Amino acid sequence: MTALAILTVDLDALSHNFHALEALTRVPVHPVVKADGYGLGATPVATRLMAEGARTFFVARLTEGVTLRAALGPEPTIYVLDGCAGEAAPALRAAFLRPVINHPDQLTAWLGSGGGACGMQIDTGMNRLGFRPEDAPEPFEGLELVMSHLACADEPDQPMNSRQRNAFADISARYPAVLKSFANSGGCFLGPNFAFDAVRPGICLYGGGPEGRPDARLKPVATLTAEVLQVRDVPAGESVGYSRGFVAETPRRIGTCGAGYADGVLRSASGVGQVWAGGGLCPILGRVSMDVIAVDITGADVSVGDRVELFGANRRLDEAAIAAGTISYELLTSITSRVGRRYL
Ligand SMILES: *Cc1c(COP(=O)(O)O)cnc(C)c1O
Repeated sequence: MTALAILTVDLDALSHNFHALEALTRVPVHPVVKADGYGLGATPVATRLMAEGARTFFVARLTEGVTLRAALGPEPTIYVLDGCAGEAAPALRAAFLRPVINHPDQLTAWLGSGGGACGMQIDTGMNRLGFRPEDAPEPFEGLELVMSHLACADEPDQPMNSRQRNAFADISARYPAVLKSFANSGGCFLGPNFAFDAVRPGICLYGGGPEGRPDARLKPVATLTAEVLQVRDVPAGESVGYSRGFVAETPRRIGTCGAGYADGVLRSASGVGQVWAGGGLCPILGRVSMDVIAVDITGADVSVGDRVELFGANRRLDEAAIAAGTISYELLTSITSRVGRRYL
């Protein structure tokens, strides 16, 4: 396993972040574990969060819910954000999953197939999923959760946040005995008015900051490392990698490391990314290729067999995402099955 790129998941750090969000919002935290727990493994992540007290989880897809139900057993509540699409009702019911109903056809399908416990999403301005407030149905049998989703939670000063919050407070008041959930990760940091009855964080559980940069209240959970496969000295004037993506103006020492875009190192990190190696940050030189990257280790104490950190405690996830022109969410969910997983 040593030559593989390895994703290490620190479950104690996950637990720290879970309790930090509880303390911050003072309401129950209902973790979002869609996309295989943002790439970290929905089963180990949710199992640990259950041990920490979580009793309600959110996934996006029916298939994610079926897998999670099999892993967690009958006890926890699992909501499926996609809702009740097409012929999904029997499969949802068979796995005791609750759809988040998003539009009238889904409501008809769910109630027509027998109904039962479910949630409902109101769209308060994102125009993605959910009933427009004016189209929201009367309270109905089985409705246990009303939720909405913020479009700009990572921008605390964005006036749309309060507009959405107030719209949600108005419309959700029509469902008195129903749990109200509004805030994602960013929303947890917008103040007590945004917490309602339960929050739905994803990225902050996994160590990404609420505003797309590291936050001292959260611990890094995911560490991606790759092994140095070869060290070489490149004379001035020679190039490195495909398409001569880097040309050495001065002699450089290069470490070729075993992680590439087939592992989830985005090609957009070509020439702009950095890794932590030998106690400092080292630039990624030239193109990210399928299996390897070239790292400038000139002057650094790095040898074959050492591991470099693409993100983790030293090279923070959000910093790596910014360098690659993306967001922490995409870095985590891009990690492929070829990468070894280790849980601490
Ligand atoms: C993905 C998602 C979340 C979690 O978002 P984060 O920004 O990762 O906290 C919450 N609610 C809904 C509806 C989502 O789609």
